[in-house]
Amino acid sequence: MMNLNGLHLLLTYQCILECDHCFAWGSPKQSGTMTPEDIRLILEQAKELETLEWIYFEGGEPFLHYAVLRGAVEAAARAGFQVGIVTNSYWATSADSCRENLRPLAGLVQDLIISSDAYHWGEGNGEKRHLVEEAARELGIPLGVISVAGPGAPDARSSSGALQPGTDALLYRGRAAVRLASQAAGGAWDRYTTCPHEDLREPGRVHLDPFGYVHMCQGISIGNIHEQRLADLCAGYRPDEHPITGPLLEGGPAGLVRHYDLPLQGRYADACHLCYTARAALRERFPAALAPGEMYGDFAAAAPGS
Ligand code: SF4
Repeated sequence: MMNLNGLHLLLTYQCILECDHCFAWGSPKQSGTMTPEDIRLILEQAKELETLEWIYFEGGEPFLHYAVLRGAVEAAARAGFQVGIVTNSYWATSADSCRENLRPLAGLVQDLIISSDAYHWGEGNGEKRHLVEEAARELGIPLGVISVAGPGAPDARSSSGALQPGTDALLYRGRAAVRLASQAAGGAWDRYTTCPHEDLREPGRVHLDPFGYVHMCQGISIGNIHEQRLADLCAGYRPDEHPITGPLLEGGPAGLVRHYDLPLQGRYADACHLCYTARAALRERFPAALAPGEMYGDFAAAAPGS
């Protein structure tokens, strides 16, 4: 049963950066950006989900397409949704630039989240954070910060667990699985018997990308809104019958490996690392469920509408 509270729109896969830890392989080389027409279609379909309260705009970097973002925020607010934005704040180059970018969003955005950590801006990330904090305070925009720990930091869920306060655990999926996993001690594949981060049975939120794919987790698709309306996709989702979420619900990433008899019995940085590796190995077999190629670092992959 899907009672979605939040819809997270990947406004674009493009980003000015290529951070090592990015789930969505954001890059200047990526293609795929929502148009105003896409936004209209999505909001129209979103209104049919009666439980939906929040629309987030993220990416990639949504401020790269500022005119589309601004129009989308205005339309989502007009439609009665609470609005959030996740940004790397590349645009925060001065107090004036912050005011200029944020003023049109004031009163419309209830949750502005900036990424502020060494992946994004090296040692300079504190300066950008300070500039955005000042402008957000001045304009009355609620602000949150995502700051991801470095590779090899303890898992946030471990009891020993000692991430710095205000720091989020690094999860090894997407580009992080490829670029950073070798730096983590990790554990044997068969210890990863649950998905620790997503409620795959009754999700409270899903992601929707510029090509129309609806993601349970980045790169696990349950369908495309250009083929079936969002409300029908949600109503028709059978978690135990989906070729990827079914085995994940049964036995976590280790269950996915066992179910398809994949030769992946090694050590993995975390559950997501094994999950992502197994999914990458299954893409040819389940092209519709493991899409689009952009989520697997395949920038040249053809996608509907691209
Ligand atoms: S284990 Fe797989 S499905 Fe669960 S959060 Fe990690 S990558 Fe996503």
